[in-house]
Amino acid sequence: MNRHEIGNEVEAYCTKCKRDTLHIVTAADGGVISRVMCQTCKSYHKYKPPAAEQTVEPTVKIKKAKAVKEKKVGETKEKKPKAAKPTSRKMQNFELILEDHPKSDRIAYELAGSYTKGMVLEHKVFGTGVVKSVISDTKIQVQFREGMKILVQNYKTE
Ligand SMILES: [Zn+2]
Repeated sequence: MNRHEIGNEVEAYCTKCKRDTLHIVTAADGGVISRVMCQTCKSYHKYKPPAAEQTVEPTVKIKKAKAVKEKKVGETKEKKPKAAKPTSRKMQNFELILEDHPKSDRIAYELAGSYTKGMVLEHKVFGTGVVKSVISDTKIQVQFREGMKILVQNYKTE
């Protein structure tokens, strides 16, 4: 049952048709096809295995992942212009905070005290200040009229 016999139909690559076509085996040597005739263009040529078989791709080319960078529309678009506070208004805000905190509402600053953001302090030297941020357990950043100061908090005296 050798199908590579003269007169057999085989699929092969035709150099004239530039594609795989049906060929008639015209010469075979020991079961190996040597010459064929193209059924399409009727030309005789050396047997060439079908291109489809020749180019067995070792790895399937993975299509480049589409750059899925779809911006979530509306998410960044509608950003409130609230954060953009002009520097000039900083002191205005500061004054406003002080207005909101009458003297009785202000906390006398001391090293051992514990403070949180937004607290209004009364400092012996710098005067009234607002806690802008808590840097660490022992440090706070306070906005005074004359500028930002780093103050100590939770200071432990033995
Ligand atoms: Zn051909």
